Amino acid sequence: MSDTKYLYDMSEGDATMRTVLGGKGANLAEMKRLGIPVPDGFTVSTAACVATMEAHGEWPEGLWDDVQTALARLEERTGRTLGGAEKPLLLSVRSGAVFSMPGMMDTILNLGVSDETVEVLGAEADNPRFAWDSYRRFVQMYGEVVEGVPPHLFEDELTALKADRGVSQDTELSTEDLKALVATFKDVARRELGRDLPSDPREQLRRAIDAVFRSWDTPRARVYRKANDIPDDLGTAVNVMQMVFGNRGETSATGVCFTRNPSTGVHELYGEFLVNAQGEDVVAGIRTPRPLAEMQEVLPEAYEQLLATMRDLEAHYKDMQDIEFTVEEGTLYLLQTRSGKRTAAAALKVARDMVEEGVLTREEALQRVAPSQLDQLLHPAIDPDHGKTPVTKGLPASPGAAVGALVFDADTAAERGHAGEPVVLVRYETTPDDIHGVIGSQGVLTAHGGMTSHAAVVARGMGKPCVAGAQGIRISTSEKTLTVGDRVFNEGDVITLDGSTGDVYGEALELVPPQINEDFSAIVGWADEVRRLGVRANADTYEDATKARELGAEGIGLCRTEHMFMAADRLPAVRDMILAETAEDRAEALERILPMQQQDFEGIFTAMKGLPVTVRLLDPPLHEFLPDLVEQSLLVQRLELTGGDADEIAAARQLLGQVKRLHEQNPMLGTRGCRLAMLYPEIPEMQTRAIIRAALAVREREGETAGVEIMIPLVAYSSELKAQREIVERAVAEELEATGEQLDVTVGTMIELPRAAIVADQIAEHADFFSFGTNDLTQTGIGISRDDAEGGFLSAYVADEVIPKNPFESIDRDGVGGLVRLGAEGGRRTKPELKLGVCGEHGGDPASIAFFEELGLTYVSCSPFRVPIARFAAARAVL
Ligand code: PEP
Ligand code: MG
Repeated sequence: MSDTKYLYDMSEGDATMRTVLGGKGANLAEMKRLGIPVPDGFTVSTAACVATMEAHGEWPEGLWDDVQTALARLEERTGRTLGGAEKPLLLSVRSGAVFSMPGMMDTILNLGVSDETVEVLGAEADNPRFAWDSYRRFVQMYGEVVEGVPPHLFEDELTALKADRGVSQDTELSTEDLKALVATFKDVARRELGRDLPSDPREQLRRAIDAVFRSWDTPRARVYRKANDIPDDLGTAVNVMQMVFGNRGETSATGVCFTRNPSTGVHELYGEFLVNAQGEDVVAGIRTPRPLAEMQEVLPEAYEQLLATMRDLEAHYKDMQDIEFTVEEGTLYLLQTRSGKRTAAAALKVARDMVEEGVLTREEALQRVAPSQLDQLLHPAIDPDHGKTPVTKGLPASPGAAVGALVFDADTAAERGHAGEPVVLVRYETTPDDIHGVIGSQGVLTAHGGMTSHAAVVARGMGKPCVAGAQGIRISTSEKTLTVGDRVFNEGDVITLDGSTGDVYGEALELVPPQINEDFSAIVGWADEVRRLGVRANADTYEDATKARELGAEGIGLCRTEHMFMAADRLPAVRDMILAETAEDRAEALERILPMQQQDFEGIFTAMKGLPVTVRLLDPPLHEFLPDLVEQSLLVQRLELTGGDADEIAAARQLLGQVKRLHEQNPMLGTRGCRLAMLYPEIPEMQTRAIIRAALAVREREGETAGVEIMIPLVAYSSELKAQREIVERAVAEELEATGEQLDVTVGTMIELPRAAIVADQIAEHADFFSFGTNDLTQTGIGISRDDAEGGFLSAYVADEVIPKNPFESIDRDGVGGLVRLGAEGGRRTKPELKLGVCGEHGGDPASIAFFEELGLTYVSCSPFRVPIARFAAARAVL
């Protein structure tokens, strides 16, 4: 028998024990320690859940005994008995994972109410209605969660009864109604299961704990974990606590609050509550709750106490808290506190404010913000000058703009969204089972539910715009229509949501680029004080270079010159150069290209004055500059068939011949990069001349130029670099000699082929710097075509978890990362001070940046819009 401890009384734990007790259990224990009123109870550890999963559902030996003794202790402390005919003990059984997964797992409330105890419970509270309300809730929740009765069977009965009584709220049902409902619910369960629900509360408790274990592995929980990078093997803890009742009449209530506004981060009152209700009524969005401020009038003492507790908890945890509470006959209890999920804008504001309030250091504040949150802020918003009138309005539950086609169910949203179509998911209310649809959509609109409903919490955490509780809309899921007033929208009609105001527009509105605010700049500025890695940008135009500099790039790590070759006015000259059959023809074409290249470089060097710019010499797969082989063949055929002009036919035939001659089966592995330059040294020579002339012209004009670094692509052999370096150096020397000027120019290479990584020590002999081209290194290192992989087998691999992530997005640490390591070590063996950069897409990916930090590289380079994220991620990587 193992000596793992599977069960803890609440008094045994504290906040540091979240891996064992789960977040909820650890924080409950911590609150108890702090003297904050929480209901008494115990926690079954995550280890018990993991052991049960490993044993295919079999509980570890001794666990049930542990639960029974803990229950006996709880009965003694409370003076109540589970199932007892005199003072019955009622329990809540709630999941609580290490990382919070709002609403994804199961909860069972009111366990212990039964035919034997319901009357006593009513008499004790002097409120029979409350007892029967609790009973019908229990049968419903237990039947659904533990025994798997489809929820709508209960809902349909409840709706039918309300219709029959002519009432709209559950609270309007009488005690007799509720009694009848309990009987009906039991019948529903019997019909569905072919047996009665178990009536022994101890057996119910065992099955309830087991159901919470199982809920760790539901599809929605898996989807949520995947979306939030939470490992699948952590398991959930189970919290068993004495029930406190928010549904015990008009002096009882239940609610949810945040210590700051989770949408904006503003330090203000934020929360909702419902009188005479139980917790799931608020969070599941079943009844639309009231703003917390109104609690001051209804339950003034509990309200003041709640405010004081909120302040204490925030000060204690040094973080914004998301709190669940219940007031039972005027007495406040806390059921949960956790770090509050917040929007990106709120995360930045809270972090910055808490530094100003002296609560957090700058380093701590940086750790409170996730790189993905900065990413969210770099997304577009609705153009403020749209001048359109909203068709309706709901609660601004999660900010940001969403434009998309209406869909009415989560499966369709997931399917169409993942296929690349922007969709907006519309639901009466969302349930955790809709999670995959929320992920697939641009935004979510619900007719029901409040700001703290699961829909809102989950959407905020994921940065999805959400408008909740838009009461002016009517939804028919069967007809797939959304009706506002007399306007009817069908599936596929495009609407726009503004999650920051709650406005809903019946058309597609223009979006504007994101505005980077002061919180954003401040936090990224702090990141700069901390990070070691340099951050440059990949940019090939004046505009991109200017943007990059504005966003904090410390230079350009990759200027792809082939992009300049593709512009329409250059393509003919470039084509002539490639197709030239004599050196003279080629020289003539290059002469035409040179001034255009020079002009481009002048723009970039001007934008990057005083900062380094790495210009990479030409790296095209040749076919990108030539007509398509098939199309050219068809053209020739057509001209021949239609008896076209003889000269035209001859020219087309000649071009076809040249295209055939240059055609390659695998152009990505063909005459690219330095291979082309090795065949035609005139090309790198021309490019070098254009670079030097541009640098000198900018210096002349602006008084300062950029630091010139010339980079040779797709090198596999050190001899290639040696030869290319000679060409470049000769051209530089000639240009400088002709002008009598001085200019520092360094020459380096891309490391983007496995061979180059392996012989990096040899290559470094001829290099002033390396830049890892992790796109090609991934393509050639794993052997996946970068142009064909997406959507093909690779997507299936990621979906089926054959591999954790798309290796073109986030570096494959073990494989491709190993090649980078090898290259870095080899290079530094030869030249200890060798500058090492990364300019593949991975240079903007936070997880990859953390890896490059571990390797001690010099800088990363990414697209201009990712520069702030890279600056931030580089800081996070050293904290
Ligand atoms: C690379 O291969 O990582 C790289 C930056 O070069 P390109 O994407 O232009 O091939
Ligand atoms: Mg490359």
